[in-house]
Amino acid sequence: MPDLIHLLPDAVANQIAAGEVVQRPASAVKELLENAVDAGASHIKLIIKDAGKSLIQIIDNGCGLSERDARMCFERHATSKIQNANDLMSIHTLGFRGEALASIASIAQIELKSRRIDDEVGTCIIIEGSEIKSQSPVSTPEGTSISVKNLFFDVPARRNFLKSNSLELKYIVEEFLRVALVNPEIAFTFYNQDRILHQVTSSTLKQRLVALFGNAYNQRLIPVVQETGIVNIHGFIGKPEFVRKTRGEQYFFANGRFIKNPYLHHAVENAFQQLIPKDSFPVYFIYLTVDPKTIDVNIHPTKTEVNFQDVKSIYAILLSAIRQSIGKFNITPSLDFEQEPSMEIPPLPKNAVINQPVIKVDPDYNPFEKKVKTQFEITLPPRVKVNEDQWKPLYDPLKDVHFKPETFENEEQVPQRIFADWDQDEKLTDRISPVQVQNRYIVSSTQRGIVILDPQKARERIIYERLMSAMENNQASMQHQLHPQTILLSPEDFEMTMEMIEVFGRAGFGIREFGKNTILVEAIPADCIDENITDLFERILEDLKTGTDDGKSRQQIKVAKSLSKSLSFTRKTKLQPEEMASVIEQLFACKVPDLTPDGTPTMIFIGFEELNKKFK
Ligand code: ADP
Ligand code: MG
Repeated sequence: MPDLIHLLPDAVANQIAAGEVVQRPASAVKELLENAVDAGASHIKLIIKDAGKSLIQIIDNGCGLSERDARMCFERHATSKIQNANDLMSIHTLGFRGEALASIASIAQIELKSRRIDDEVGTCIIIEGSEIKSQSPVSTPEGTSISVKNLFFDVPARRNFLKSNSLELKYIVEEFLRVALVNPEIAFTFYNQDRILHQVTSSTLKQRLVALFGNAYNQRLIPVVQETGIVNIHGFIGKPEFVRKTRGEQYFFANGRFIKNPYLHHAVENAFQQLIPKDSFPVYFIYLTVDPKTIDVNIHPTKTEVNFQDVKSIYAILLSAIRQSIGKFNITPSLDFEQEPSMEIPPLPKNAVINQPVIKVDPDYNPFEKKVKTQFEITLPPRVKVNEDQWKPLYDPLKDVHFKPETFENEEQVPQRIFADWDQDEKLTDRISPVQVQNRYIVSSTQRGIVILDPQKARERIIYERLMSAMENNQASMQHQLHPQTILLSPEDFEMTMEMIEVFGRAGFGIREFGKNTILVEAIPADCIDENITDLFERILEDLKTGTDDGKSRQQIKVAKSLSKSLSFTRKTKLQPEEMASVIEQLFACKVPDLTPDGTPTMIFIGFEELNKKFK
């Protein structure tokens, strides 16, 4: 029998390694950006076409490559960054594995042009699927330009696996931000489809944050600084009042690289505890510097996890540093309830004249004349008249609804309704007057059982359905602004807003472009009159960024979800009887009364049968 085992050809080995290193265009962008940083560049250009699927080009003015190195760098395990195993203990560069270029070259067409400062001419190399097609001298600026074309051109399985361009671009932007955030002294220009998406000059960290995330960050950030023998910490946290509804800008960096660390994340959350609402996320940009000997970055080529030797102490130091900053900058949020009038009464001046208070009565005042304007009557577009066919199924006796929100992608696929088989009169005749408990839940009943509903969740559903119906019929009520407001956005948010201008229009936002990264809001949905438009709009953008792929109808749903969530929130918790009745009535008029748009229950139903059983 012959022996069976043989070594794989390099090209195949590289392609296998590429499966690990380059999962999507964004991973190639990360590797190439890091190489440019390691090369000591002071200006890095990133050029993307079709979300990196057809072109990723990175141009740096770093140290460049010699003629031989320009070829060598595509070999597997070829690196200039470490020499031996000992060097692994003290890595000062981002790269060290010598795998990235070999991997990328095995699955794409590459053109590399590079020149060192002292060389007269540079080198141009063309590679396709690990094979060198040509190498020639070239006149090129000092530094390196590497173009990666048609990524995965002969790995169709992987190419087909890629997500939509907008999602892949989002991943690329994220990688770009991670590198740009940790190297504020390097200037970056990022072109997407020939348009500048980001352009940042060499600056301080704070300037960099503001340049990347928008001017609003100028007021939102407070510094964190702590130097100890174990770790040096610097960076910024967002003031508690600027928390995010979604996990947005939360960045840890250690020794110049982006890292994820759930344990340290917990320290930040801990420091913010009780200062921010439960379902919100603090913003932070924390930079840790530790002795390279005490950190293991060699866990996995694409993983951002690292191990710290003394992570417990770092946790404690971080927690205390953030608490100190919060205390020092006195940024505890303003209290939620209306302020008591001041109890400090200044002493009267010595010869002050004191007039007896006079009571004035308006004899015409009739307290019952004023119509109580309930939360639910205001501005929403007119209710759609619901016919019996739509009503009946809503009163299906409660079945065990085991509902997974994540399957709730499509509004039409709602699995089960709580009620069916309902007689329209039932609601009118047999309902007890609703009562409110704990200043929150509304308890009422139908002929068949007891309903307990959460008014805020109910409002979310009610507003959502009205918005969706208004958006579908293109009849959202708009409120034109007397003083149109400008909002300065981050470049991505601006791009996204422009792409979605039509969807926003359907929801009632009249928006147009107003200079660089700025929009002018000329009209708002009528429901939003009392809202802070900048905050509201930023929240919507934030929500739009989460989740997976996004067709037009998904975007519409997301906007409606986000708006209904924001607008359903109210400080007012105690409801008047007529307000409670109004919520119940409007909720049961919804297509899906029992769930919020996100799929959490709006109500709980306990059938009398079930009650009887319980009481035997
Ligand atoms: P690693 O970064 O882990 O060393 P790579 O495959 O990314 O491995 O790169 C291989 C080598 O090619 C690097 O060690 C470096 O010497 C060289 N190199 C890559 N990109 C650049 C660049 N933009 N400028 C100068 N040298 C580079
Ligand atoms: Mg590298």
